[in-house]
Amino acid sequence: MRNPFDKSSVLLIYTGGTIGMKEDPKTQALSPFDFSQILQEVPELRKFSSRVDSYTFDPLIDSSDVEPSMWVQLARLIRDRYDDYSGFIVLHGTDTMAYSAAALSFMLDHLRKPVIFTGSQLPIGSLRTDGRENLISAVEIATARDLRGNALVPEVCIYFNSQLLRGNRACKVNSSSFDAFRSPNWPTLAEAGISIRYHEHAIHYPAVLERGLAIKTALDTRVAILKIHPGITAQVARNVLLGEGIRAVILETYGSGNAISKPWFTDIVKEASGSGKILLNITQCLAGEVNMDLYSTGKALAESGVISGGDMTTEGALGKLFVLMGEYADNEKVKTLLRKNLKGEMTK
Ligand code: ASP
Repeated sequence: MRNPFDKSSVLLIYTGGTIGMKEDPKTQALSPFDFSQILQEVPELRKFSSRVDSYTFDPLIDSSDVEPSMWVQLARLIRDRYDDYSGFIVLHGTDTMAYSAAALSFMLDHLRKPVIFTGSQLPIGSLRTDGRENLISAVEIATARDLRGNALVPEVCIYFNSQLLRGNRACKVNSSSFDAFRSPNWPTLAEAGISIRYHEHAIHYPAVLERGLAIKTALDTRVAILKIHPGITAQVARNVLLGEGIRAVILETYGSGNAISKPWFTDIVKEASGSGKILLNITQCLAGEVNMDLYSTGKALAESGVISGGDMTTEGALGKLFVLMGEYADNEKVKTLLRKNLKGEMTK
C-alpha cells in the first residue's frame, strides 16, 4: 500500500467523449481517437510533479452509448488500482457524464480518494478547446492532499468549466456552452480561479475509522422514467407504470411533486404501487425539491404510495435505484433506503 506522503499520482481513465475525438475528413463527424494523442495535445501534464498514468477503455465510446456494464468496469478498475494512486480521473463524454458520476458515487463505498469525471465540449486538438483546462485542473484537484496526506475531495465529482460539482448532484444543462454543468441543489465543492478554492463545508469527508474501498457491482436496471406532461394518455401511463419487467418508476412531476389528480391517473398509480412497484417522485424543475404535502395534486400521489425523491436529480435517482435494487430483492427495503441520504445525493 502507498505511503500517503509519497509523491502523488493519478490514473487517467479514458472512456471516450468529445475530449478525445477527431473529425473524420470524409464525414466531418467526430469519433474517438487513441489516448497517446491526448497526451501529445496536453504536454503540460508532464510538468506536474505527480505521476500521471493512463488506462484506455476498449472500445472508446461516445457517451451516448454508455451502459451500466461500463460503470462496473470502471468500479472494478478503481478498486484494483486503488492503492496505487492518490486520485482517479475519468475522461468521459459530457452527454451522460452526470449519469455515470451519479452511479459510481453509489457503487463506491468508503471512498477516501477523488474520482473526478471530466471531458470537454470541444475536442482537445482544437485551438479553443476547453479540454486542456478541464484536464489540467482535474489533475491538480485529484492529487490535492492536506498536511496529513488525506485527499481534499474524497468524492466522486465532475470538474467542468472551473467548477467542481458533486457527481450525484450534477446535470448537464447546456449543449453548446463551455458552462455545461450545474449542481442546482448543492454548492460547488471547489472553484478554480487564480487558485483552487475548496469549499470544505460542502465536501463530504469519510469518518476516520471507515473501512477500505468496497464496490457494489450488482445493478438492477429495471427502471422506467415517466415524465408527466399535459395530454399524457392513460395508455402511456398504464404501459409504463404497469409495464411488465419494470420494478421501479421515476415519476418526473411538476413543481414541488405534483401530477394529474384525475382518478384515471391516480388509479393507475395506486394499482402500480399496490402491486409492489417502487414509485419515486422527482421534480421536473432544475432546482428545488419535491414536497407532496403542499398541493392536493401531490398529496394524491403520496397517498397512492409514491415516495418523495426530495431534491435528487433524475440522474442521481437512477443510479441510486440501480444500486439499491441490485443489492436488495425486497422492494420495501429499497423504499426505506431511497428515503435516506446515502451519498450526499439529497439534502433531507
Ligand atoms: N456526444 C459526446 C459524448 O457524450 C459529447 C461530449 O463528449 O461532449 O460522448
